Amino acid sequence: MNDSASSGTEQKTIIPQAQPKLPAPLGAAPGTPGDRSAFGFELKARIPGKHGRTGIIHTPHGTIATPAFVPVATQATMKAVLPEQMDSLGAQCLLANAFHLFERPGEDIIDAAGGLNEFMHWNKPTFTDSGGFQVLSLGAGFKKTLAMDVEGKKSDDVIASGKNRLAFVDDKGVTFKSPLNGASKRFSAEISMQIQHKIGADIMFAFDELTTLMNTRHYQERSVERTFRWAQRCLTEHQRLTAQRLGKPYQALYGVVQGANYEDLRRLAASQVASLDFDGFGIGGAIEKRIIGQICSWICDELPENKPRHVLGIAAVDDIFACVENGGDTFDCVAPARTARNGAVYTHDGRWNVKRSSMRTDFRPIEENCDCYTCRNYSRAYICHLLHAREMTGATLTTIHNERFFVRLLDEIRDSIDGGYFADFKEETLARFYKDGSKG
Ligand SMILES: [Zn+2]
Repeated sequence: MNDSASSGTEQKTIIPQAQPKLPAPLGAAPGTPGDRSAFGFELKARIPGKHGRTGIIHTPHGTIATPAFVPVATQATMKAVLPEQMDSLGAQCLLANAFHLFERPGEDIIDAAGGLNEFMHWNKPTFTDSGGFQVLSLGAGFKKTLAMDVEGKKSDDVIASGKNRLAFVDDKGVTFKSPLNGASKRFSAEISMQIQHKIGADIMFAFDELTTLMNTRHYQERSVERTFRWAQRCLTEHQRLTAQRLGKPYQALYGVVQGANYEDLRRLAASQVASLDFDGFGIGGAIEKRIIGQICSWICDELPENKPRHVLGIAAVDDIFACVENGGDTFDCVAPARTARNGAVYTHDGRWNVKRSSMRTDFRPIEENCDCYTCRNYSRAYICHLLHAREMTGATLTTIHNERFFVRLLDEIRDSIDGGYFADFKEETLARFYKDGSKG
């Protein structure tokens, strides 16, 4: 018998309790398809004369106040940071990658866990991208990034030569060699939808073809046509799966607008995708940095106002302002986490590296007025030491700071739109951030 109660010493439990179940998502009831009315977009305020706006995206796992930054949790985790920490730094949602989760651990395991939210213990909205970028970047767009600065680059820098290609596109889909084990695999509109339904994110993207700015005009035209046919097939498969998977919350599907730098192709692709019954839209594909805002504006001219728009794969602070101003609502970006692991930190005075030697004896926080956990508790000197010693905690601390920087930046942008001072805020923020020629 356990006599600890009578011994007078309180027994301490050292075994952690099982995680409490997450709250039930909205619009899910046993035996019925997910209720589509659990998803929607509510417009709040506009930037005068522009497509930019504030609003609220409603999802089965809660709301997203927009414009919003979407941190990238590629493998159903933020690298080096727990979901609880992402929550406390103000992240409203996360984006995971369908292709990587299909490769490992496999969508069936995530489905068996009860979906992405349960699997990774995150109770706020989630996105998955279609896997198109990853599959296709094994082929034609081998070395490219989405928002790219093409100046000084040659086509050879961007497009892999035939023998190096790991993916080949045909009208039905893509055949590729798995980067994990070299096995030959197939990806298509239907397969992407089946994977994304099993992963169970609130917001999914239609499977689209990735092109690069180095592809010819003729190829871009064919790609827009193909992406439209794939969009129709995605929607059909999405509707079939929604009707079949009873008891699950509704998953929203965004159609993706391609068309590279061509105004006529962008407008055509946007009006085609807008003609279908999507819940929202993704702005994707090769975009030259200097006209990224212009491209968003062309596209948003053609899109309905009552549905949300996500800009895929943003790269920098000035890109975020350009895309917000011209109609983007949500933005994913791997840069803050990826660069954090190498010691690069974002501050209002630009991006710099906390590993540089002058930081070894600098006991100030990364940024004086930052409210993040890292800046409230740790010095540049300590973080500099951790990163040089290759301690994982260093990456945790810099990632928390950088993610907070972007989350807070979008919070501030939102306030500036609601308050009617977006133009001034943009000018001041960009002038300060880039005054020393900062990257990022
Ligand atoms: Zn900070």
